[in-house]
Amino acid sequence: MKAAVVTSFTEPLEIQDVPVPTPGPGQVLVRIEASGLCHTDIHAAHGDWPVKPTPPFVPGHEGVGIVEALGEGVTNRAVGDRVALPWLGHACGHCHYCVSGWETLCEEQLNTGYSIDGGFAEYAVADAAYAVAVPDGITPQDAAPLTCAGVTTYKAIKVAHIQPTERVAIFGIGGLGHLALQYARIVGGTVIAVDVEQSKLDLARELGADYVVNAAETDPVAAIEELGGADVAVVLAVIPRVFEQAFESLRRGGRLVCVGLPPESDGPMALPIFPTVLKGISVIGSIVGTRQDLAEVFDLHALGRTRVIAESRRLDEVNECVAEVLAGRAPARLVFEL
Ligand code: ZN
Ligand code: ZN
Repeated sequence: MKAAVVTSFTEPLEIQDVPVPTPGPGQVLVRIEASGLCHTDIHAAHGDWPVKPTPPFVPGHEGVGIVEALGEGVTNRAVGDRVALPWLGHACGHCHYCVSGWETLCEEQLNTGYSIDGGFAEYAVADAAYAVAVPDGITPQDAAPLTCAGVTTYKAIKVAHIQPTERVAIFGIGGLGHLALQYARIVGGTVIAVDVEQSKLDLARELGADYVVNAAETDPVAAIEELGGADVAVVLAVIPRVFEQAFESLRRGGRLVCVGLPPESDGPMALPIFPTVLKGISVIGSIVGTRQDLAEVFDLHALGRTRVIAESRRLDEVNECVAEVLAGRAPARLVFEL
């Protein structure tokens, strides 16, 4: 089968012909139909983060496809089911986090496209218990971006506990941001979209943003202050300075939701103590979402409440696609068709 393989953190991905994997006990073999390219895949391929994957490996944690074979003991999935293979590829199932609704914090988790081979291939094996069903009526092309970009931003909006009429600033309108703003609207927020690309802001408007701020032309902190300040700022950009701007844009009682993960070498964000205390600011880290969160994301999409903006690409074009994303030239999401 064809797969895009990371052979080294300093080399481009290689298209290789590798054996179709065999599902072990509790696993399913999935014929991948579509697989989105997330910024995390690029960080994985470059070894940007403190805990690094081990080459060779196949990235991709937005793989969607059809179950073709079952490993021993699988009862929750059947051949022919359409499933999504998200970042949370496996968790222990019995620790404090797993049993309290926070399986995404499990210390024994395995991550698709990072510690286990992912969706940039014609086939992948997955833990059947963590492969999430894709309901009828959702195309693989839409399901793929929802599998990471969707669930990650849906969870970020959930943990912010947004009240109707609260102002929600979304920093970074790309693959994640275009969905984040839709979830913020679904829970009743007034949305302020912030980006440095006018085309992304035009898209944000089209998707229902109430205000847009072009941070390349105007100071986003001043612009948001003029609107009364943000109750919630969700940071999807991968630049520490943007986290600081988002913090500064908050009004009293505000919540900073950190989602984007810059390369470790870019250093920390500065968190000033006085305003944090005096303004009663909460700082929240939010990492992907649970299987239940993803099921809710799919339900909302099946109900027609969200729109996925993505463009199809061939897996052979993986390195060009990486360059496109890094240059900020990609439309909201790029999805490989397999
Ligand atoms: Zn992702
Ligand atoms: Zn666990």
